[in-house]
Amino acid sequence: MKILIVEDEPKTGDYLKQGLSESGFVTELAVNGVDGLHLALTGDFDLLVLDVMLPGLNGWQILEQLRHGGKDMPVLFLTARDQVEDRVKGLELGADDYLVKPFAFSELLARVRTLLRRGKGNLEASVLHVADLELDLLRRRVSRAGRRIDLTAKEFALLELLLRRQAEVLPRSLIASQVWDMNFDSDTNVIEVAMRRLRAKVDDPFEPKLIRTVRGMGYVLEVPDCA
Ligand code: CA
Repeated sequence: MKILIVEDEPKTGDYLKQGLSESGFVTELAVNGVDGLHLALTGDFDLLVLDVMLPGLNGWQILEQLRHGGKDMPVLFLTARDQVEDRVKGLELGADDYLVKPFAFSELLARVRTLLRRGKGNLEASVLHVADLELDLLRRRVSRAGRRIDLTAKEFALLELLLRRQAEVLPRSLIASQVWDMNFDSDTNVIEVAMRRLRAKVDDPFEPKLIRTVRGMGYVLEVPDCA
């Protein structure tokens, strides 16, 4: 799942980006209101963590324009201002939750997960399957044939992408931008290495093999025809 953080204080922004990335989310950081709004409108984010006091546009203005533009992803406001009227204003504009600075990261993570779960309607929708492989987005768990599989945060994000777009051939460039949030030169083998490790865990000990390399194109996850 992809989270946009809009925060102008470098320390807080880096802390949030690192913490959420380590928790398995793909994150992007905008350091002012204008960039934040642009990314939120054009990117494909599941949730926004939005500071209120920002250069350019403030958090309320961003939220107002987002809802106006038909974007309904959950928004968690971060604010140092905990006055009642500010909370009311934000909630009236359609914020989903509030966190007053300073906050503990564990608290933020709990709120983020709750909002994502609420956004999905129910817990069922947060589990992705193919054949006997199961990925639980909220519990951050993967299992195959009922056996628990431990994945790193990157492996989890990679498998999540493959599952969300199953039966679709995903080019390396798309995987690089969605999972590593960057573009790799075509000669790097970061994706190949991560993919090999993922397959060693979710495919090698099982049948049928679900992840397939499509030469010269990329990777696809699907139940093979012969299975
Ligand atoms: Ca700020």
